[in-house]
Amino acid sequence: MSISLKDKHTFGCTVAAKEYWEMSSIAESISALKQWSGVPYLILGGGSNILFTQTEVPRVLAVRMLGVELLKETKSFVEIEVGAGVPWHPLVMQTLQSGWYGLENLALIPGRTGAGPMQNIGAYGVELRQFCTGVNVIHRQQLKLQFLDAKACNFGYRSSIFKTEAKDQFLISSVRFRLPKAGFHQPNTDYGAIRETLMSKEIDPDKASPMQVAEAVMYIRSSKLPDPNELGNAGSFFKNPIVPMDQVESLQQRFPQMPVYPVSEGFAKLAAGWLIDQAGWKGKSSGPVGMHKNQALVLVNYGEATGTQLWSFAQNVAMDVFNKFGVKLEPEVNLWPPLV
Ligand code: FAD
Ligand code: NAP
Repeated sequence: MSISLKDKHTFGCTVAAKEYWEMSSIAESISALKQWSGVPYLILGGGSNILFTQTEVPRVLAVRMLGVELLKETKSFVEIEVGAGVPWHPLVMQTLQSGWYGLENLALIPGRTGAGPMQNIGAYGVELRQFCTGVNVIHRQQLKLQFLDAKACNFGYRSSIFKTEAKDQFLISSVRFRLPKAGFHQPNTDYGAIRETLMSKEIDPDKASPMQVAEAVMYIRSSKLPDPNELGNAGSFFKNPIVPMDQVESLQQRFPQMPVYPVSEGFAKLAAGWLIDQAGWKGKSSGPVGMHKNQALVLVNYGEATGTQLWSFAQNVAMDVFNKFGVKLEPEVNLWPPLV
């Protein structure tokens, strides 16, 4: 009997899985991977970063390994190991309440912990890689357990080995973090929106506690981003493009107000949302699909959109941005089936 995935992913499209298995241990996962060797299947966490472009998925392995284990504690930090199935935002709150800091800017990101390393989740100037020391994985063909340290994960901007060289090679079973304690951590309040929100609450951004920063992040996110429970979406649909400085300079001559964030020698990050807005797509829709009115980077399902309709709209947006700015937008959201 097939299982509906409509409420198991945040775009809320009508999709069904012919087989759907929830795995709460490594042994169960290995047994499933063994049975499905050589046939297509999807590993699913919270479904907040996936777009289904077909209405049927043959097999789904839903990762539900739970548990937060304290591996080491010193005066200045703790090291913890977190099951891949642990929901992310409650983990952030649990760490802050325990006096273990660092993840405050990543509050309210939907999904489960195991997907965090996939794109090195990031928000408001903080990325998972700053606190992740490595991941435990199951090799999907060899069915072997491995520990990949942070270097081996090759984390980059919204990227890792799991989205590049080792795509579809591993199931992440748990993630390790090293989190500083009070007195050994200064929260990052550099992003304008965080500073403004803290100041509006009469909190000095340079003296804000990690919990106050998390609360500011939650406040900003809830007032700006569409709630997937009310409006289907998967957050930012495209990555912010990283482009060479000579291209940035020639764009700046045409668009002097364009936001530019230098990232490394000779390269800068552009805001994909700004490009989409300038191209006239912010708040624009076609039938049940559109780009959100407050956040141009968020592709939205206003009702009963299919994955194909969403993908086709997104491609039109990307093509138009390319024609107007010569900048290629790449999806941040994962497609099923994957693009070949
Ligand atoms: P899923 O959507 O279930 O899976 C994503 C991908 O990872 C799929 O390819 C899946 O096959 C693979 N995968 C999942 N779990 C595993 C595993 N254990 N082992 C191997 N592969 C696995 N992202 C950010 O980086 N920053 C943000 O600020 C942010 N804000 C968001 C806001 C909203 C409103 C929404 C809807 C999304 C946002 N996202 C953000 C995107 C998303 O929430 C994150 O990328 C999140 O980590 C995805 O987790 P998930 O469990 O839902 O992954
Ligand atoms: P925003 O504050 O309107 O800023 C727009 C873009 O400019 C962001 O994408 C951000 O890049 C960049 N930016 C802003 N200030 C910056 C600074 N001081 N230094 C470097 N880059 C800066 O963004 P928003 O849409 O409201 O999102 C706020 C944060 O939440 C961002 O970090 C964003 O990545 C994150 N977020 C992510 C998702 C997702 O699905 N991936 C969804 C919602 C929000 P960065 O994106 O690189 O930070």
